[in-house]
Amino acid sequence: MSTTNLIIVVPCYNEEEVLRETTVQLSSVLSELEKTDSINTGQILYVDDGSHDTTWELIEQFSQKNNRVKGLKLAHNVGHQQALWAGLEWASSHSYSAAVSIDADLQDDVEAIKEMVAYFNQGKDIVYGVRKERKTDTFFKKHTAQLFYKLMSGLGGEVVYNHADFRLMSLRALKSLIVHPERNLFLRGMVCSIGYPSACVYYDRKERFAGESKYPLSKMLNFALDGITSFSVKPLRLITSFGLFFILIAIVIIGYALHSFIIGHVIPGWTSLLISMWLIGGTLLTALGIIGEYIGKIYKEVKRRPRYFVEKEV
Ligand code: UDP
Ligand code: MG
Repeated sequence: MSTTNLIIVVPCYNEEEVLRETTVQLSSVLSELEKTDSINTGQILYVDDGSHDTTWELIEQFSQKNNRVKGLKLAHNVGHQQALWAGLEWASSHSYSAAVSIDADLQDDVEAIKEMVAYFNQGKDIVYGVRKERKTDTFFKKHTAQLFYKLMSGLGGEVVYNHADFRLMSLRALKSLIVHPERNLFLRGMVCSIGYPSACVYYDRKERFAGESKYPLSKMLNFALDGITSFSVKPLRLITSFGLFFILIAIVIIGYALHSFIIGHVIPGWTSLLISMWLIGGTLLTALGIIGEYIGKIYKEVKRRPRYFVEKEV
């Protein structure tokens, strides 16, 4: 007899068009999991992220008819990451043994939840849902997203390639996540940095079931920038490298300018201007980079991220 109490956390922002179908599909997956004894009980937690449509009314209505459904209404729209955090924090404080996070729009394959649970039952703490191919994404979205994942890992941020926020986390992983005190959330990176045994399940991402994307390009770019700046101080270090590189160029220029000066083929003032331009530029950039190093340190300190998590003890 399985003792797993599973909760599926679904952030919703103006999702009245999809919620009914989402509830049907998630409930049926949970019923199957219960029938096969993979879990003991399964619930759904909708987090209404300050919707302006009838999303909350629907959640209330579903929760009365279907005892699997629970709802959390946020007083204001705080964005997908914060809404998801609210749901995960709730799940952790109610001691569910595992939580799956998924978008409301059914773009992620609900069937993959079964595989996630199977890995969880084998002892994995974190199971990442990974998109196989991005057939349904536009050319632009696919390539910008992939560029982002490459840039992120190049800058030293840990992310699972092509994994968004569809994942399962054990209670232990949830507890480790919610002790991160930072306000700038980039959950997919934070979860990776926790560690713990993990696995990936692969699925095909579908079209949105109904409604429109709540993530326009501007929000997407902000999110990518947030991701990089929350996990990497390398851009700051890059400034120092540029500065030193400019100083190197300055040294070459000094030689060249003095040589031209000595053989006398220059307009008066050219030598001093050229040399000071490169030298001052390089020095300024290096100085900025050094300040950046300290800012990077301060940034890491104020985030007060936990230092480590113990996986096992004997
Ligand atoms: N979402 C949210 N708050 C927001 C924006 C989006 O809770 O401010 C939810 C939305 O309801 C959905 C999920 O986040 O469940 C992902 O949004 P969407 O599907 O629109 O993004 P896309 O898949 O287009 O990147
Ligand atoms: Mg979507």
